[in-house]
Amino acid sequence: MENVIIIGSGPAGLTAAIYTARANLNPLVFEGYQYGGQLMTTTEIENFPGFEEGISGPELMEEMRAQAQRFQARLVQKDVEAINLLQRPFHVTVEGEVHEARTVIFATGANARMLGLEAEKRLLGHGVSTCATCDGFFYTGKEIVMVGGGDSAMEEAIFLTRFATKVSVVHRRDELRASKIMQERAFKNEKIQFIWNSVVEDILGEAKVTGVRLRNVKTNDVTDMPCDGFFLAIGHVPNTTLVQGQLELDAQGYIITQNKNTATSVPGVFAAGDVQDSKYRQAITAAGSGCMAALEVERFLEAEE
Ligand code: FAD
Repeated sequence: MENVIIIGSGPAGLTAAIYTARANLNPLVFEGYQYGGQLMTTTEIENFPGFEEGISGPELMEEMRAQAQRFQARLVQKDVEAINLLQRPFHVTVEGEVHEARTVIFATGANARMLGLEAEKRLLGHGVSTCATCDGFFYTGKEIVMVGGGDSAMEEAIFLTRFATKVSVVHRRDELRASKIMQERAFKNEKIQFIWNSVVEDILGEAKVTGVRLRNVKTNDVTDMPCDGFFLAIGHVPNTTLVQGQLELDAQGYIITQNKNTATSVPGVFAAGDVQDSKYRQAITAAGSGCMAALEVERFLEAEE
């Protein structure tokens, strides 16, 4: 019987691993298909405190892993296939084997929605970005194209105008989904231009983004538009398929945690990081909530003894 099983090895899962390991809870961590999480796909991280000159995403995550291992957290590079949270002890199934746990920390993250273009993955971190907060600074004095039409897309477009000389928002229809107030703010911003009734067909550039290929869905006209950065702001998908029907989720599929802590709708199950956070989505906030989940696991187990 495990004290705690942690599912996921991004900043949330690994921070929870460090804390629970140092509390002598001997955590078992299933790291999943992408050990290290989303930051393994990026280049420079300049906003994680403690690294004056910045640090590469993979380097930061290797450091976190090594730190967790230093305290004997057991890291297993396997996916959890099924989970049963409706009985205690909880059951976590990996490669057909059932592991029993007194508590579970769910830290499976979220993935940005992509357009599905080959160039998107190739150029991610080289001009393609899914995070304005993370990467806006790199585009000082540059031109950006963005796709998206919701409130957060408008918020990100406005934020990007602090750095970029121009932000062109490509939208497949001739009106936005964003709330009226956000639309008005974006329309008023002189650095933002809208390219209506259009879709991005390709991202141009070999080693870095040099432009995008646009198609007007009404006329079918294809044009190439030069730019330095391409931002996706078409939403995120939290990785919560495993807990559907077992934990309370919000309308977008994020795990609902209680105000100011990481407890879920099932006592003994905690959620940390992007899987329960559609708002901040940062490495430091994920790590912070991983710490909270670990401390809450400790208290939960103590209260049961
Ligand atoms: P994730 O990092 O998403 O990790 C999820 C983990 O869950 C993975 O290890 C995965 O293997 C595991 N998992 C999923 N399903 C299963 C399963 N069934 N079984 C077992 N494991 C599973 N943030 C910043 O603060 N600064 C930046 O500069 C920055 N740049 C970014 C650049 C890019 C390209 C991207 C994509 C994101 C960036 N972010 C940045 C955001 C940051 O990466 C996330 O906020 C953070 O990684 C969230 O951490 P997490 O631990 O919640 O989840």
